[in-house]
Amino acid sequence: MDRATIVRTDKAHVWHPYTPMDAWAETDPIVVARAKGAWLEDVDGARYLDGNSSWWVAGLGHGHPRLLRALREQAETLAHCSLAGIAHEPASRLAEELVAVAPAGLTRVFYTDDGSTAIDAAVKICAQGWQQLGRPGKTRFVALDGAYHGDTVGAVSLGGVEVFRRPFAGVTFECVHAPFPEPDAYDRAFSAIARLVREEGDTLAAIFVEPMVQGAAGMRMYDASFLRELRALCDAHDVWLVVDEVFTGYGRTGPMWACQAAGIRPDLMCVGKVFSAYVPMAAVLATDRVFSAFRGARDRAFLHGHTFCGNPIGAALAREVLAIYRDERVLEGVARKAPVIARAFERIGTIPGVQRVRHLGMIGAADLQDTRDGYLGSVGWRVVEEARRRGAYLRPLGSTVYVCPPLNVDDADLETLLGVLEGSVREVLGTRTSR
Ligand SMILES: *Cc1c(COP(=O)(O)O)cnc(C)c1O
Repeated sequence: MDRATIVRTDKAHVWHPYTPMDAWAETDPIVVARAKGAWLEDVDGARYLDGNSSWWVAGLGHGHPRLLRALREQAETLAHCSLAGIAHEPASRLAEELVAVAPAGLTRVFYTDDGSTAIDAAVKICAQGWQQLGRPGKTRFVALDGAYHGDTVGAVSLGGVEVFRRPFAGVTFECVHAPFPEPDAYDRAFSAIARLVREEGDTLAAIFVEPMVQGAAGMRMYDASFLRELRALCDAHDVWLVVDEVFTGYGRTGPMWACQAAGIRPDLMCVGKVFSAYVPMAAVLATDRVFSAFRGARDRAFLHGHTFCGNPIGAALAREVLAIYRDERVLEGVARKAPVIARAFERIGTIPGVQRVRHLGMIGAADLQDTRDGYLGSVGWRVVEEARRRGAYLRPLGSTVYVCPPLNVDDADLETLLGVLEGSVREVLGTRTSR
């Protein structure tokens, strides 16, 4: 199909995620044909640096030869079978390998289809688990303001971004939202959650957090000490701490897991996205204590399972991802490249109209002052359009623009991406200077 036909057919039938569809009808989208490494290539051969790892998934870039080989070999051997009453090598070896790299204490792996279903499974594990541990009063959940844990009904219930949750108020469960620990309001935020846990801990099943950085809320970062204090609080009042590492895992923030920055042991950990590279799969890891709630008589089983949980192709890919992390020293590369991102964002922070910048590991973000809103669109979108003209694919989060490139992006591509972003911000904010 040529470009025009693809776009016409798309506009006739495809309903896009998070997309105002009348506006979409007017857009001229990138039409991707292939991708390699950190680059997307459209049907006409134009290339775009993948500035957000294709919605935070392509941590090892596109078309990694080892991942493609693992995918092909697994597909030819055993492409699909269920995990109900069946064991297979990819799922069992992956579980063992995950436990080996996970924070200490996580010993059990429950597979799901994607990040949202990992969160939903974790919610249900907490709910059923406390009942079966003889604490039926522990039924309530806590999450942070600004939290994003996915889009299924359970995950949306935990969500702390009001606009994502509001349309579904009639079908979500109640969740207590605690203040986000902004650097200038840290003590207040911690006191609020501490009071909640001290006074109502008997009714609380779990606290869900995105460790170190809230992605969808606009790459909002916070101090590791908050996680340490939260861990102590949860221990003192017997509330489970669930870390959602779907975005932050696999070195996005520097270490393999973001919660390692705080040195904490979560009770449950959700992983997804980079986890299985090119096919959807995710997992919930749990401690012996959590798992123990489901042992014993038959009626204590966790009555939950997704069609593609532990699917052999996903599991084979997830194993190969871990092998590549070891063999290609991906985290060492992150440690080397993170300061490059940090320096670029410090520079972007000096551009008039840039209100605030922040960076952590392979994430850099800048909040832009929204000057000319209205028909021109928000400032974030205008930067993204300018970046596209300059050869990079980005998406804004409101008036925040950010990069989170593949973790194995090479140095030259990273410099190019950061240069495109800086140039685009300068252009849109109207303060282009000669460099
Ligand atoms: C993307 C994301 C999810 C949801 O994962 P899906 O695979 O899109 O369902 C959950 N939590 C966080 C932190 C995420 O970034």
